[in-house]
Amino acid sequence: MIDPKDFKKFSPKIMDWINNYLNGVESYPVKSLAKPKDIYTQIPISPPEESESLDDIMADLEKIIMPGITHWQHPNFHAYFPANSSVESVFAEFITAAIGAQCMIWDTSPAAAELEERMMEWLRDHMGIPANFEGVIQDTASTASLTAILTAREVKTNFKANVEGVPNNLRIYCSKETHSSIEKGVAISGIGTKNLIKIPVDEQMRLIPEMLEDQIKKDLEQGLVPTCVVVAIGTTGTVAVDPLKEIACICKAYDVWLHVDAAYAGTALLLPEYHWMIEGIEDADSFVFNPHKWMFTNFDCSVYFIKDVDVLLKTFEVLPEYLKTKTRGLVNDYRDWGIPLGRRFRALKLWFVIRSFGIKGIQAKIRGHIELNSYFAEQIRKSPDFELVMEPFLNFTGFRYRPATSLSEDTLNTLNEKLLDCINQGGELFISHTKVRGTYVFRMIIGQTYVEQKHVDKALDVLKSEATKLMAAEK
Ligand SMILES: *Cc1c(COP(=O)(O)O)cnc(C)c1O
Repeated sequence: MIDPKDFKKFSPKIMDWINNYLNGVESYPVKSLAKPKDIYTQIPISPPEESESLDDIMADLEKIIMPGITHWQHPNFHAYFPANSSVESVFAEFITAAIGAQCMIWDTSPAAAELEERMMEWLRDHMGIPANFEGVIQDTASTASLTAILTAREVKTNFKANVEGVPNNLRIYCSKETHSSIEKGVAISGIGTKNLIKIPVDEQMRLIPEMLEDQIKKDLEQGLVPTCVVVAIGTTGTVAVDPLKEIACICKAYDVWLHVDAAYAGTALLLPEYHWMIEGIEDADSFVFNPHKWMFTNFDCSVYFIKDVDVLLKTFEVLPEYLKTKTRGLVNDYRDWGIPLGRRFRALKLWFVIRSFGIKGIQAKIRGHIELNSYFAEQIRKSPDFELVMEPFLNFTGFRYRPATSLSEDTLNTLNEKLLDCINQGGELFISHTKVRGTYVFRMIIGQTYVEQKHVDKALDVLKSEATKLMAAEK
């Protein structure tokens, strides 16, 4: 066991390790090459009875754990969406852990509640979210969207579902491209996934508002209760932006809760030139985005804005005697703003990141990533063996390998799947894929905090050389 008095003696080991990691992350394979149970079998069946030394623990970290890590902070991590971090965010996490406060209510750490309140205002006001929205930090967008669905459910049932159980005629709508967390949320809410209606999308993978309205009308005729529409600002497959303004008009006309899932692309709202993405936001009811994706704040930190906090509180508030305080009503007790009682002090890392980067610094980084993506897409466009499947947007490019021969769509899909495997096994680059109308598509995301053009060039080199290798092997 380590005595706090010895903190200075031991901490350099940890600091050096982190320093080496942050500056040497490129020496690891981006995607872990571990096989199932590789790590598990190296961990002893029983915990140690006696104290082990920090040196021994650190040696095993290197030997056992690191080979099983996929390096999300590697600048050639271009898969999924980033979960980027920054030095500032790491520092703040140290301090958060040292303080070790549980920030469930204002009383249990007033600074945590009040810093959170102010951070939410900073972000809201810079993202073009109207001032009558209030914010709260959730662990993930999945939780925030579940919170929205539950609140919508209570509003539509006059707060009866919480007490009497959920009626089976509530209806939720989203597009076919919406994130899986919505389906999970609808299941957990008791509304039932049979009542989640997935509306078709247009050529650009955006929800078709006319089809939403038709569906709502049809449901009303059958005595069903349209309860919530989820709009995606930046879908997970292809970063498509649903037409919020048109959908907001429909929600207003039929009195349906409108939740906006901008988990990933929301960060781009810090750039005024992207505020068009949320035109109509004043008619939405709730909005979520993840600083833990593209805003340099390490996982977890999800920001949830809601227009009518009263209905949120009415949905989630329970007040046992032992949690009654004298400050109720004067301050925010965030345990009533979501699902868990206990809460981490997450606002601190936002404060560190926003202050140390400055809004301009954050904007410059995001714009830099968007420019690198345009550069990448241009190189793909020029390359005879690859093609863009869609126009690049933000820091996302959807493309595929298409050697200049007349291959069938099925053959191309198989070839691309094989190529992706080769690339990701190589350890120099990690990208993921999606399907667009049956076409297998590579998803390139350029969002790691410290990514530079040389990394994008390396990605292009790896793509080309792995493709050449694969074609040679296929012959
Ligand atoms: C990543 C993502 C989510 C899920 O985010 P979590 O914070 O991991 O729950 C939801 N919606 C969209 C659009 C996403 O990109």
